Amino acid sequence: MSKVLGSETICPHIALFPSAGMGHLTPFLRLASVLLSNNCKVTLITPKPSVSVAESAHISSFVSAHPEVNHLAFQLPSLQPPNSSTNDPFHIQFDTILRSVHLLHPLLYSLSPPLSAIFSDILVAAGVISVAVDLGLPHYTLVTFSAKYLSLTAYISIMVSDPTKLSCSAEIEIPGLGPVPVGSIPPPYLNPNHLFTSVFMSNARALPGVDGILINTFDWLEPETLSALNSGSVFAKFPPVLPIGPLVPYELKRNEECQYLQWLDVQPKESVVYVSFGSRTAMSKDQMKELRDCLWKSKYRFLWILKSNKVDKDDKEDLDTLLGHSFFEDTKNRGMVVKRWVYQQEILAHPAVGGFVSHCGWNSLSEAARNGIRVLAWPHHGDQRVNAEIVKKVGLGLWESSWGWGIENLVKQEEIQKMIGELMEDEKLRITAKKVGLL
Ligand code: UDP
Ligand code: UDP
Repeated sequence: MSKVLGSETICPHIALFPSAGMGHLTPFLRLASVLLSNNCKVTLITPKPSVSVAESAHISSFVSAHPEVNHLAFQLPSLQPPNSSTNDPFHIQFDTILRSVHLLHPLLYSLSPPLSAIFSDILVAAGVISVAVDLGLPHYTLVTFSAKYLSLTAYISIMVSDPTKLSCSAEIEIPGLGPVPVGSIPPPYLNPNHLFTSVFMSNARALPGVDGILINTFDWLEPETLSALNSGSVFAKFPPVLPIGPLVPYELKRNEECQYLQWLDVQPKESVVYVSFGSRTAMSKDQMKELRDCLWKSKYRFLWILKSNKVDKDDKEDLDTLLGHSFFEDTKNRGMVVKRWVYQQEILAHPAVGGFVSHCGWNSLSEAARNGIRVLAWPHHGDQRVNAEIVKKVGLGLWESSWGWGIENLVKQEEIQKMIGELMEDEKLRITAKKVGLL
């Protein structure tokens, strides 16, 4: 990626600007790592303070492993949310970052060597457009979710004049893509005043103003959607969409032995069900008990990453209080529960892992696909039902749509057990997932 002019080598200098949450930071750090290994200079702009400990810890460990990165901590002003539609700290942070982007201008103007381009998170794209125009820089946005969810969001933002009426139909027909069930649309999208919705919609509406869209997906996973977007059948005018996924994890330095990895080392090949709902999905106490009882009675080995609170620093309850001591006594020879951050990329790459019960966060899915791990989709919110449809359609996993949104319904232990049985025993699924891992 470097240009030789006479005897001088010119390396592109790229500014990367992620929004909030590990689901946004992780793909940016992965992209930064790819750019660095292609001789680019990287300026990483990270909003400060971050919402979770995970974000600040990953930023500092990435920056200390790559001292060549120019790290700019972008101090956020304290802004009042414009309404009280949500108390989700990640949604509030999305909005704060978007409303503060104009403050970036002086930070970027004075960089040396000058920037060659800005790669912004899709959730800040609308604000970065004018900064990039002022600085005369190309501006590409990185989409951290699927091409299908991108199309759905962009379509609603441009074509649906009254989203509150969407609930009157069963499906929404997107040209070039076919119908999307209204039940897969995140419920906040039906309320234009919801902060989550206003952030997603304003950025989607602004997309014609970016030079291109980089997206963490790949052709095998979303062939029709990518070709529909790039052929102009969804929108006549849309920036080029370049699939760059699945983004390859960068090496994470471990400062300690992880008991759960040592435990995986002594489990038979593909015998363990890995259960995790990502970095910011907490399960209700009742649902936790159903899942516990399912794993207790099931014959399968399991590694369960438990979260009882959305934000890691508030996640303080201990495991015995949440699940009861006898569960641990009875399952100690075939299961492990962890209540802290884990190295998911190492878990999914471990030969002992057979299946993944996942909330269907897009990063988790692309990591599963990359490692050839089959998935039981249990979407909880946001883009996750759209992602679950993709998983089912391509044969990477199973999805029982009657479970609804994880945050709303109580799924009983027998139902979970049945689906885990299918996940672990279905040979066709196992083979398809393995094939994806070999692509
Ligand atoms: N992750 C991890 N360890 C954890 C929880 C999450 O490494 O304990 C990583 C996971 O591998 C993924 C990201 O955090 O890369 C979560 O993003 P995803 O899109 O799957 O879900 P979100 O957390 O945004 O809901
Ligand atoms: N971490 C987290 N929440 C916590 C504690 C740690 O998200 O409550 C994350 C953090 O992102 C860090 C990773 O866990 O990168 C590993 O944390 P650890 O405590 O093992 O520290 P490290 O190995 O980075 O020294």
